[in-house]
Parts: sequence; C-alpha cells; structure tokens
Amino acid sequence: MTEYLSSLAKGLEPYVPGEQPGDGDYIKLNTNESPYPPSPKVQETIRKMADGSLRLYPDPSSGVLIKAASAYHGVPEEMIFAGNGSDEVLAFAFAAFYAGKKVVFPKVTYSFYPVYCGLFNAGYSQLPMVEKLGMDLDGMAGCGCGVVFPNPNAPTGELAGLEWVERIAASNPGNVVLVDEAYIDFGGESSARLTGKYENLLVVQTMSKSRALAGMRIGLAFGSEKLIDGLKRVRDSFNSYPLNRLSQYAGAAALEDDAYYKDMCGKIIRTREKSFGELERLGFEFIRSSSNFILASHPEVPAAKIYQVLKGNNILVRYFAKEPLQNHIRITVGTDGQMKILFDRLEKIIGGC
Ligand SMILES: *Cc1c(COP(=O)(O)O)cnc(C)c1O
Repeated sequence: MTEYLSSLAKGLEPYVPGEQPGDGDYIKLNTNESPYPPSPKVQETIRKMADGSLRLYPDPSSGVLIKAASAYHGVPEEMIFAGNGSDEVLAFAFAAFYAGKKVVFPKVTYSFYPVYCGLFNAGYSQLPMVEKLGMDLDGMAGCGCGVVFPNPNAPTGELAGLEWVERIAASNPGNVVLVDEAYIDFGGESSARLTGKYENLLVVQTMSKSRALAGMRIGLAFGSEKLIDGLKRVRDSFNSYPLNRLSQYAGAAALEDDAYYKDMCGKIIRTREKSFGELERLGFEFIRSSSNFILASHPEVPAAKIYQVLKGNNILVRYFAKEPLQNHIRITVGTDGQMKILFDRLEKIIGGC
C-alpha cells in the first residue's frame, strides 16, 4: 500500500475521530455534538436555500455569514474568516503561521494540533500539565514562539480567564497566539473582541457544538487583517470555495437566532451541573468542566470496562487510553433524559452488576 504514498503522506500520523455509528440506536455522548436540534429558523433557511441556485458556486468570501458574525461579535468584517469547519480553519492557521516555525500547546489538549504540525512541518513542544491536568498558562506567556490552546481546554473543560488570553498574547509579540474557542459558549467569555487590541491574536470558533450544526461544517476565525490575510493566502492556494452555499446561509441564520441558542446552552449547562452531583455520588473523580463534556475516571472500575459495558448497552462515550489520560472517559453532556439513562447504567457498572 505504501508504495503509492509520497514521503509526506508516509510521515503522517492522522487524527482518529470519535466513532460515528451509522444507525441511530445509540445515545451518542462521544463527540460533543449538541443533543438538541439546530434552531427551526436555521432548518427553514436550509430548506429555502436548497433551490436552483445550487448550480452556482458559492460566494468565495462567505459574505452573508461574515456579515452576521460581524454584527454578532462586534468585530469588523475585514477581521473575520470563514472555513469548512474549524478543523479546516485551524489547518489553514497552522500552514499560514507555524509551518517551518515553532509552536507550543498543552500536553493534554485537542489531539489534532500535533497532526497539523506533522502535515505542515511545524516544530512543536507540548507543555506539561500543572496540578494534575491544568494548562501551564504561565509557560505559554512569554514563550517567544507560537501558542495554541483551546479555551476551555479539551478534553478537560478548564477555562482560562480573558486576563490570561491578554497576558499570553501581549507577551508573545511577533508570534501568533491561537485561541480555539470551540466550547466558549458553555460558560466562558469570547476573546474575539480582543483581536482589535492584539494584532497577533487569532480566535477560532465552530458552529459544530453550541450551534448544533456539526453536520454543516462551519468554522470562523477572528483576527487582525494581517492574520486574516494569511488565512486567505492559504485558502486560495488550496480551495477557494471552502464553505458551501447552504452552510453560509445556515450559519448566518444561527447567529441571528441567538435567543434559541442561549436557551439551549443554558439547558446544557444546567444538565452538566446536575451531572457533577451524579458523578460525585457514584465516586467518580472528574474536572468541573466549563464545557459540554466531562472528563472522569473511577478509582475502582477501569475506564476501559466502563466504556465497553456502556457501548454494549448502546451508550457511546469517548475512551482515552494514552498517557497521561489513561483510564479516563469523556462524557458529552446530553439531554436530562439521556443522562438519566447513562447514570442508571453507570450505577449498575459501579455496583458490580
Ligand atoms: C470539535 C472541535 C473542533 C472542530 O470543530 P469543527 O468545526 O467541527 O471542525 C476544533 N477544536 C476543538 C477543541 C474541538 O473540540
């Protein structure tokens, strides 16, 4: 098989995404999707836009989406970029700002970052975690190289305050500091507006989690014109139409129906807080996440067993086997009903049945 591969492809160590079973029989708590549907207005927009205009290429600059994002975040349109999911935006950023250079990120974080470094030949180092699974924010401040971290971090759910984003951006002039805000709507404050103050700050967001649009693949970036131009350079050297027509309109409609999404995120946050109590009751050790997932381990029952038994009962969670996260599961916060089924089953597993 490898005889066909380029030396670039041979050297890759691809990301392994969470399972996506084809049938709908699972309670799916493994890839941090929303348990709720996207806004009815978004669904209506998609239906309306699915017409003869699909014969045409979409707007290469995703104008309607960027206009809506500008109004929503109070960031000028020239400082916003849209891509086919934030994974693509992240890939463009690694190519534009870190290829052939050096970047640091936490040891325990989104496992796609080292993969992009491999693809674009960026040197990287992984900062050891502090106090168990905390990010070394001090280590990222003033490191004199590129910095990437999710805020809140994944898969721990730890939130860093805006004062940290400012400190890390201000102390690394000339290097791009990328904050991946995939989960910011579940309890944090976005640093998107800070991009007006720090030319080297790039803030990346996705509509896959808090906007319940993982199936549409919509990612955004906020940054100075210099950084946005860097992303455009890479985009236009790769695929000038990254975002399809339906996604552009769906994304704009999602930003325009904020009341629906505030309500939805509020529900998820309340379910998360209740779940902390349930995990405590069952003797789990876990991080009080600011996100829509909870990283947990049990002192007596191996995570591998919990994962397997849950799967046998049609409940999918994410299992981590690689050090330093061995013996952990990550549970996406579902609906109250889904979480009740999960905790009933966990109770039986922990009780030895
Ligand atoms: C889910 C996730 C992404 C990817 O989001 P897409 O927009 O679906 O590509 C990026 N970063 C982190 C930390 C994530 O968890």
